[in-house]
Amino acid sequence: MTVQFVQVLVDCPTDERLFTYTWEGVIQPGDGVWVPFAGRFLGGIVVTVQVEAPAEQRKLKAIASILHRSFLPVAYWQLLEKIAAYYCTPLIQVVQSALPPGVLTRAQRRIRRQEGDPSQLSSPARQLWEHLATYQRHEAAWRELQKRIPNLESTLRELERQNLATSYLHTPPPPRPKVQTFITLLDPLATGATTRQEKLIQTLRHLGGELPLAAFIEQATTTRATVLKLAEQGWIALSDREILRREAGDQQPMTPDQPKTLTSAQAQALQQIQHLARGETLLLWGVTGSGKTEVYLQAIAPVLAQGKSALVLVPEIGLTPQLTNRFRARFPGKVWVYHSALAAGDRFDSWRQMLAGEAQVVVGTRSAVFAPLPQLGLIILDEEHDTSYKQDTPAPAYHARTVAQWRSQIEGCPLLLGSATPALESFRATQTAQFQLAQLSERVGGQGLAQVQVVDMRAELTAGVFSPLSRALQTALAQTIERGEQAILFLNRRGFHTFILCRNCGEVLTCPHCAVSLTYHATDRILRCHHCHYTQTELQQVCPSCQSPHFRYFGTGTQRIASAVLELFPELRILRFDQDTTQRKGAHRQILEQFSQGEADVLIGTQMLTKGLDVPQVTLVGILAADSLLHLPDFRCPERAFQLMTQVAGRSGRGAVAGEVILQTYAPDHPVVIAAARQDYLAFTLPELECREELGYPPFGRLVSFLWQGMDETIVRATAQFWAEQLGQLAGEVLGPAPALIPKLRQSYRWQVLWKLPLNIAPQPLLQPLLASRHGVKGVSCRVDIDPLHL
Ligand code: ADP
Ligand code: ZN
Ligand code: ZN
Repeated sequence: MTVQFVQVLVDCPTDERLFTYTWEGVIQPGDGVWVPFAGRFLGGIVVTVQVEAPAEQRKLKAIASILHRSFLPVAYWQLLEKIAAYYCTPLIQVVQSALPPGVLTRAQRRIRRQEGDPSQLSSPARQLWEHLATYQRHEAAWRELQKRIPNLESTLRELERQNLATSYLHTPPPPRPKVQTFITLLDPLATGATTRQEKLIQTLRHLGGELPLAAFIEQATTTRATVLKLAEQGWIALSDREILRREAGDQQPMTPDQPKTLTSAQAQALQQIQHLARGETLLLWGVTGSGKTEVYLQAIAPVLAQGKSALVLVPEIGLTPQLTNRFRARFPGKVWVYHSALAAGDRFDSWRQMLAGEAQVVVGTRSAVFAPLPQLGLIILDEEHDTSYKQDTPAPAYHARTVAQWRSQIEGCPLLLGSATPALESFRATQTAQFQLAQLSERVGGQGLAQVQVVDMRAELTAGVFSPLSRALQTALAQTIERGEQAILFLNRRGFHTFILCRNCGEVLTCPHCAVSLTYHATDRILRCHHCHYTQTELQQVCPSCQSPHFRYFGTGTQRIASAVLELFPELRILRFDQDTTQRKGAHRQILEQFSQGEADVLIGTQMLTKGLDVPQVTLVGILAADSLLHLPDFRCPERAFQLMTQVAGRSGRGAVAGEVILQTYAPDHPVVIAAARQDYLAFTLPELECREELGYPPFGRLVSFLWQGMDETIVRATAQFWAEQLGQLAGEVLGPAPALIPKLRQSYRWQVLWKLPLNIAPQPLLQPLLASRHGVKGVSCRVDIDPLHL
């Protein structure tokens, strides 16, 4: 067999390059190998195999052994290559973002002695062979042997050639069960207890008499030692219980649920799904509360019955508990959760078990699109319009919807996209017959969508109401609480304090050249246009249009809203759901649970609230600052605003009682506000698509964005300028260069360029020269984003 030159991605976190090794014998991309690396041995994955020697003729080392044939199956490998090519990212970075860290290095190589005739062996080889016999079962870890045997690799090869030893990959045994200590109350009387001990016993009783010890210690603010004393007295007992690692922190008992009888619309959608050809995509467009999740569940059941697996992607981990629980209840013991917020050990375990075909339903966020399920029967992307499906950094800047589509085509399974407010790209794809469409236009149970009332906030000001809650919202809130129902107040976080609005006339300060709203930069107190770099340093005190002094930076935080609500209704129980209150692990779940169990009257929150929350007792939703969504400097901003308002409105009236929505705005005549108030997707989408077509924006054109960064502003700017001109000559239209939204970050200046291309021109081949030289200019790096979502 001829020598082959093999490029290996070495599983070494500090070095991202590919290394070339030699190998004689069968080998192919995706194989897991064991290679010498900087004085030690590491696991790696074969990336390419070629017969021609590489140009640089250094002395190449040989691969030590093949640990795992097709560690990444061929189909999976194809997917990674496709991603690398499309997103202009080196394959190595794609592999790295797909694999959880340590997948290879955790595997151990073990050497086993074989019985036979040692007479032909050299003396070191014979020594090794005899040494192996001193171990249990005549086998030892490679790492162990390396400490004792010089030139282990060559000596071993001699043994292997004579069939006197074999080496194999040993992945650590299934993780040892995690054990959790529980505390149980035995004797509530606790005769003879001190007052302090008495108090602890009472606390334990109030907490239900039994819970994990760690939780008790935290809630009773006590110590382990104190608890042990209680145990010595026989008042309580401590016991260790096994918990499954993948379910750690998720032990609430699951009441199994049964498939529901589908409505005729649901049944028809399910039929369509079951008739999808391999690799076909269907968009399930169903209004909020129309029973999309039930359709997913019933689409998955037959997949599992065929012995295949299903992959379910959800936007954010904040919404995973409710949805995951529905999957767990339907498929008890078969659902695995996979996302990048899991601890490395958990991800590693899940990965191996998925690879071994043990996982049947995997629910996860963006990165779970890489879950190595061997027998994929169906991929589902819930809330497919959500922007969290797009990765920003590190490269590849992939979109999980796009990757899921390729994956379904490569692996020959259907893809199901679901949303109440499909992304314009997806909706357009149904018009061009790239995607099939199934529609659920009514809520389950005959309850209509909530009534939306638009409140003009300018009139509130005229009437002397300065509260962020309009009079209509105050009244509705009072009535809701009186009826014993719950309310959600939604506040936009993005665009917070970033544009200037007149509270009297609704005027927004815009760029005189570009007609986009100017962005306020608090750090240097200037207003800036992000399209043309126009800046304004004089901050006006009064509105240029009506001279009102109520002219200010727009936006308020959830905390301010909470205190405004308490001022009006001191008795209300309030929960906040925002970045501040959900930092702690498990906080998402806890807050949502508290709210759905009626432990609070009002939930105040930001973007995170919009997704999937299904609390039947909620009958009032207040959208406090709809305007802040409308003036962001991005052509997708109306789409986001519409999606957000519709999704938030969709949280109201999901139970037996009809819901109500109050939408507060300074622009009640804005077409997006009008369409959102009617929750009329087409009324928004059809004209918006026309507008996109006219301007050549996606889905009627392509965009590529470039970000140049470096310490020396002149060089960064000149590089950006140079490439802007080059790109412009190649094709399409170039916008910029302009300073990025964050013009300076960690000592680096950032300039961006947006490249707009017609649909029939693929940017990747044109980008080759740029990519080849992007590290050419010293001190400037370039980030390329194909199909960027945030401009
Ligand atoms: P969506 O995902 O479209 O927002 P859900 O799947 O959450 O809607 O459904 C809304 C509510 O209706 C849920 O409480 C769900 O259990 C219930 N539901 C869905 N389908 C049915 C059905 N066919 N029969 C009875 N209840 C249903
Ligand atoms: Zn401008
Ligand atoms: Zn004004």
